Amino acid sequence: MRKTLVAGNWKLNGSSEANRSLIAGITAGLATESGGEVMVCPPYVYLAAVAAQLAGTDLLLGAQDVAAEAGGAFTGEVSAGMLAEVGCSHTLTGHSERRTRYGDTDEVVAAKFRAAQAAGLKPVLCIGETLEERESGVTMEVIDRQLGAVVDAAGVGAFADAIVAYEPVWAIGTGLTATPAQAQEVHGHIRGVISGADAKIGAELQILYGGSVKGANAAELFALEDIDGGLIGGASLDADEFLAICEAAAGTN
Ligand code: PEP
Repeated sequence: MRKTLVAGNWKLNGSSEANRSLIAGITAGLATESGGEVMVCPPYVYLAAVAAQLAGTDLLLGAQDVAAEAGGAFTGEVSAGMLAEVGCSHTLTGHSERRTRYGDTDEVVAAKFRAAQAAGLKPVLCIGETLEERESGVTMEVIDRQLGAVVDAAGVGAFADAIVAYEPVWAIGTGLTATPAQAQEVHGHIRGVISGADAKIGAELQILYGGSVKGANAAELFALEDIDGGLIGGASLDADEFLAICEAAAGTN
């Protein structure tokens, strides 16, 4: 039985004070025996402070990105080892904003995925098609290319210790959400690709859905066979909304 994970991607938002009150709100309202996992992904500079605030709670800490390199002359980068040292257990890799705005190619994403695992972090591999790609009918080709780049570089065995997040780019921050049928179709496809190479790893892989998930639509999405929780952007900045999403996930555990 796969556990659910609800991960909050705070993106470029927060301040010391806002983070403290958001974490306090989440920890105060979170049901302790839900059986599901909950994670927050603050900006790099706040990771250590948030780690300290999470001490003694069950909340997980993740980064939003990671360097492909372990160290050296890479100005502005943060390595997986550094993230692990300050308390991260996970990191996002290949978020569509990194791919489209900062030039993370499939190869770079695969290198970041491998660098994360080499330092003991669990990568959350984000994949998804643009609106143009969906409308051209190439959604599954895009998924296969983005997923395949990492399978080729890291091997399917690497997915025993990784998470995939399906995030249709057209649904991120737009208020548009994939219909349950659209989401399940892609999630089932992703699981099928991994299961085709290794049935056990495919069956156990957590696959999150991301794209304008809110308290109001979370339960319907999380009830689907191959959806194991969510990667949440905007709604993760509001403790009550985030808690409603966590509650929806807990209801499926
Ligand atoms: C995201 O950035 O990963 C995301 C899903 O954002 P939002 O929930 O705001 O659509």
